Amino acid sequence: MPQIEEKKNVREDLMERIVSLCRRRGFIYPGSEIYGGLANCWDYGPLGSQLKKNVKDLWWRTVVQERDDMVGLDAAILMHPRTWEASGHVGNFSDPLVDCKKCKQRFRADQMEEAAKCPEGGQHEFTEVRQFNLMFQTQMGVVQDETSSVYLRPETAQGIFVNFKNVQTSSRKKLPFGIAQIGKSFRNEITPRRFTFRTREFEQMEIEYFVRPEEADASFKDWVDQRHRWYLDYGIKADNLRLRAHGADELAHYAKGCFDIEYMFPWGWSELEGIANRTDFDLSQHMKFSGKDLKYFDEETKEHVTPWVIEPSGGVDRAVLAFLVDSYDEDETVTAKGEKDTRVVLRLHPQLAPVQVAVLPLQKNKPELVELSQKLYKSLRLHFLADWDGTGQIGKRYRRYDEVGCPFCVTVDFDSLEDKAVTVRDRDSMAQERIPLDQIFDYLRKKVFCRE
Ligand code: ATP
Repeated sequence: MPQIEEKKNVREDLMERIVSLCRRRGFIYPGSEIYGGLANCWDYGPLGSQLKKNVKDLWWRTVVQERDDMVGLDAAILMHPRTWEASGHVGNFSDPLVDCKKCKQRFRADQMEEAAKCPEGGQHEFTEVRQFNLMFQTQMGVVQDETSSVYLRPETAQGIFVNFKNVQTSSRKKLPFGIAQIGKSFRNEITPRRFTFRTREFEQMEIEYFVRPEEADASFKDWVDQRHRWYLDYGIKADNLRLRAHGADELAHYAKGCFDIEYMFPWGWSELEGIANRTDFDLSQHMKFSGKDLKYFDEETKEHVTPWVIEPSGGVDRAVLAFLVDSYDEDETVTAKGEKDTRVVLRLHPQLAPVQVAVLPLQKNKPELVELSQKLYKSLRLHFLADWDGTGQIGKRYRRYDEVGCPFCVTVDFDSLEDKAVTVRDRDSMAQERIPLDQIFDYLRKKVFCRE
């Protein structure tokens, strides 16, 4: 549940500006727009899909590729219906709902501060509170009956639990080890809103880290630190990020601890990711419901252990939105003509940027410049997310790339033909530097992959 707190120095229209930029530059469009749109569904455009892919790739690199104790998984969205009985979703995955009898609008009973005046006039006239299960149900196969009913998964985590034994035996991992997965999840949210923050179809990046019970507390603390650091490493400002421990009233009955990583969105602090110590609840439930032994056998001590689980569970769309909001900036500059101007710039981390390098011939109608810049572009795009653009004044092109977060523009000018060098313009400082062509690759590699 998002924690709404007092806004601090936030411009009221910041979200509007970001939504408008997203649409204008091809990050995120309203879904099914030509048919009038489908409420709260969003489509990621050319730049948005690349940004989202970068977020997922960096997560995967950090939590799978660069660790010895983690492996990946890509389980199906549709799962055996018993899965959701075992997990508790059939019984408990619901939000309290009220309807207004006059205007027919629905509200979450725990978020009534959102219910403004009734559009039919006066106050709303609410029904009793009912529990509303958030799982989407659909039919599998050609015959429609009760037995063919399945759910679209409301979280990716259960795909990991049911495969625990498969993964452990096939990858021969020893405790502690973890399984990571990225994929779509679906929740029939009562009040989806705030752009891509809360939608009914979204993507999650989840980890289940299996440990011996006595290692759980230390591992929990370690994952909280690591996941917090990850957002900071990729550019979220420390002041805009916080950890919030769940109070006893928020904690699931089986969980021993939970922290939310929250971001200060324009509307207040809201959850990006939750990290929970889920004890042995999930594997025990699946053992009970499936009748299969999911215990871990320790070859050395000959013990059978039901591992405990630490679960860092984040939303891809929320991470993308936080990176967009946090990197959005407007600064005062002066145009080539000496007039005051406002520059919109996304100060995205170079590894998140959907375009990392833009190669620009100073003029498009000069074949020598086009040829040299195309040659450079084609070699750079093998290693970077590169773009080539020859249209319009160079100053305007720089602005266009600032707006989509491209950290480096490389300009090929007439001197380049003689001195075999190009001008690199830095997005953030707007400083320009002359770099020899035979050093440009190394120069950019150091700047973009700055972790080396
Ligand atoms: P909230 O309280 O905001 O509904 P939650 O605590 O129910 O979130 P979890 O079940 O812990 O969320 O899911 C893990 C992560 O998945 C969340 O931290 C969030 O980033 C993402 N997520 C959950 N629901 C949605 C949604 N409706 N739209 C977008 N992302 C979501």
